[in-house]
Amino acid sequence: MSAKIIDGKAIAKQIRDSELKPDILGLQAHGITPGLAVLVVGNDPASKVYVGQKMKACREVGLHSETHEFAADVPQADVLSRIESLNRDPRIHGIIVQLPLPPRFDMRALLEAISPDKDVDGFHLYNVGALVVETADDGTKSVFPPCTPYGVQRLLEYSEIPIEGQNVVVVGASNIVGKPMALMLLRKNATVSICHVKTRDLAQFTILADILVIGAGVPNLIVAPMVKRGAVVIDVGINRLDNGKLVGDVDFAGVSEKAAYITPVPGGVGPMTVTMLMVNTVAAAQRQMARAGNF
Ligand code: NAD
Repeated sequence: MSAKIIDGKAIAKQIRDSELKPDILGLQAHGITPGLAVLVVGNDPASKVYVGQKMKACREVGLHSETHEFAADVPQADVLSRIESLNRDPRIHGIIVQLPLPPRFDMRALLEAISPDKDVDGFHLYNVGALVVETADDGTKSVFPPCTPYGVQRLLEYSEIPIEGQNVVVVGASNIVGKPMALMLLRKNATVSICHVKTRDLAQFTILADILVIGAGVPNLIVAPMVKRGAVVIDVGINRLDNGKLVGDVDFAGVSEKAAYITPVPGGVGPMTVTMLMVNTVAAAQRQMARAGNF
């Protein structure tokens, strides 16, 4: 058997064309262009690539985007005050801080400084909490799912893969990938297990998965004997090998022979992450305008 490839690049394009562009045109008819601000601190080379991809995607769909770059030795207070001024800026509907930050920064303090209404990465505690409780506060504030797990959920839905009642195993338990992914699929009534670096005998969990989502950052962590025949395998990992090749966490060739569906790297989850950032930014603009009574 050879797995059906879930083409994240094509699905992301479809979402941009069929959802994002009409929504942006609708906002523009009211004189509003959704705006995204990306704060970048320091010179992390991978961050530069990711920010470049986000800017390019914004230009392609017609979003306003701006980067705010800071030297690695900038005082944290300067970054905080920029966030505060962007919180007040009516042209900016979404604000993200590109991670990782240089180690001396208090990442939580910066993420919590972003208005929950503009937190389009979904990392503010308000939005994280909303993954656990069904409704947030009085319902007047916005809730944004974190982009990478949101992209995975949309890939599954787009591919008409049932989630309810399925055994889901998430490998990786970070705050930006594994934990929110598990909560989001739990909310879709899957039975979810979360594995991490301290999990003993990873294979005894992965072999039970109807849907296996891996975001660990370890090439070839998942090989065919660890995968149930007919499983859906979603590879979130992005690893640059010494020879320059980009690979995920899954032995793609081997696992493709056993799985029913699989995502490639590159071209799987990555394009969806960027697209979900834009989906959240457009949603932020719509909600902010609706609240202001202009839309
Ligand atoms: P992280 O380092 O914060 O977390 C890694 C998680 O994997 C941890 O919970 C850790 O316990 C677990 N882990 C590590 N080694 C393991 C092992 N041998 N067995 C089981 N679990 C193990 O990383 P992150 O930010 O969550 O990112 C994870 C991967 O996903 C990275 O490769 C990253 O580049 C990629 N990523 C991709 C996208 C995308 O858009 N495709 C977005 C974010 C992150």
